[in-house]
Amino acid sequence: MSKLVQGYEVVIGFETHAQLSTTSKIFSRAATAFGAEANTQACAVDMALPGTLPVMNIGAVERAIEFGLAINAHIAERSIFARKNYFYPDLPKGYQISQFEIPVVQGGEVSFFLEEGKETVRKTVRLERAHLEEDAGKSLHEDFIGQSGIDLNRAGTPLLEIVTRPDMSSSEEAVAYAKELHKIVTWIGICDGNMQEGSFRCDANVSVRKPGAELGTRREIKNLNSFKFMQQAIDYEVRWQIEQIEDGHAIQQATVLFDPDTGETRAMRTKEDAADYRYFPDPDLPPLVIGRDWVERVKGEMAELPRVMAERFVKDYALPEYDATQLTQSKAVAAYFEATAKACGQPKLASNWIMGEVSRRLNASEMSIEQAPVSAAQLAALIGRISDNTISNNAARQVFEGLWNKEGEVDAIIEAKGLKQMNDTGELEKIIDEVLAANPKNVEEFKAGNAKALNGLVGPIMKASKGKANPGQVNALLMKKLG
Ligand code: ADP
Ligand code: MG
Repeated sequence: MSKLVQGYEVVIGFETHAQLSTTSKIFSRAATAFGAEANTQACAVDMALPGTLPVMNIGAVERAIEFGLAINAHIAERSIFARKNYFYPDLPKGYQISQFEIPVVQGGEVSFFLEEGKETVRKTVRLERAHLEEDAGKSLHEDFIGQSGIDLNRAGTPLLEIVTRPDMSSSEEAVAYAKELHKIVTWIGICDGNMQEGSFRCDANVSVRKPGAELGTRREIKNLNSFKFMQQAIDYEVRWQIEQIEDGHAIQQATVLFDPDTGETRAMRTKEDAADYRYFPDPDLPPLVIGRDWVERVKGEMAELPRVMAERFVKDYALPEYDATQLTQSKAVAAYFEATAKACGQPKLASNWIMGEVSRRLNASEMSIEQAPVSAAQLAALIGRISDNTISNNAARQVFEGLWNKEGEVDAIIEAKGLKQMNDTGELEKIIDEVLAANPKNVEEFKAGNAKALNGLVGPIMKASKGKANPGQVNALLMKKLG
């Protein structure tokens, strides 16, 4: 069951535009690089000069095939390009070439973990389709005094539009889906995933309904280009829709924009229906035919997918499924884990350290794992010193700090900070005897059956040993002495 907001069920479906990582455009040879001077990357085809014709970019098709394989979708043997007609100054042809009735990628699914209260649950979002299309140009309103300008550099840039079924029921789930999708497209390298530059932008369709009722009318929040805004925009939209309905107003289908400055969504236009676009097959492009052999070849050349790698981590390293999924967030994290696990021979400890201390430090300093000052070899050496009882877990965290701050190698830091665990029983016994003598009340209480009284002894022992006593050894010796 999905959780309710003020007695309403939330329904969300996503449309994501992923800019494909080809160097040239989808139907022309012009370059797609970001940030070039206006109109220097628009050729005659992109400008829609008379007599020009589109030619399909094989690289864009190949990326669509890769995506279809990555999400277990059906790849259409024959798909059709259609003209989506509308007028806009940045669309000189008067139509966008897209796919309508028969898209190249059909079905498929994306699954991920989601924290729900104290539980971690696996969610699966079904995909409707993914289709190839061209991007439009850009209107520039700022750089011209008293006038607007058109930059056609972006016109004809290849996009894969990825459409889900209305399967998500909270902003958290929507964000988790978007992150997972982002991971997939960047992992297989079909999109650079740069959200600031618009390479990965999401439209969130949001509606609410009373449980069990028909789907409510949706409003579509356009062009969400950060995960933070995505969450804020959906939360605001849900509250707004519920308020409208509670006030007796019907929701009108509309396209809205999120304003990060006010934290509100604002209607941009009432929404067009498919019929308004007068879609029809583009006579300039033949059907896109993809043979099984092509799909098989692409499959053979693809790198190991994140979910396949996660399954391997479960099998080869005996990791819980949750760990395996976290460690396959990116290729770099996965490589860091494998290097650490292999070097120290303790995969679960390696996983704990990477998901714990390492990622905490990375998050705090907004770094990616590639920038981590602690190498996999150093982390493995540190783990080795915990498992051979040279240092305690507590001391290990101090050594990690030292590694992070580039104070030297593991053994040198242990030496310099005097963190070596006390493994000499004689010395430890002396400390324990002293603490027992100084705390007769705790000893008495413990002997009377109060197990908690032991804490009052362990604390002072650890303190007297300056944290160097081995907690396991302390416990064993205490038990022996207290009978
Ligand atoms: P269009 O192409 O006109 O935008 P679609 O029917 O293809 O419309 O749906 C677009 C997106 O909206 C899909 O992701 C779909 O899951 C989602 N969607 C459809 N109906 C609803 C609804 N009632 N509430 C929320 N999302 C919806
Ligand atoms: Mg839409």
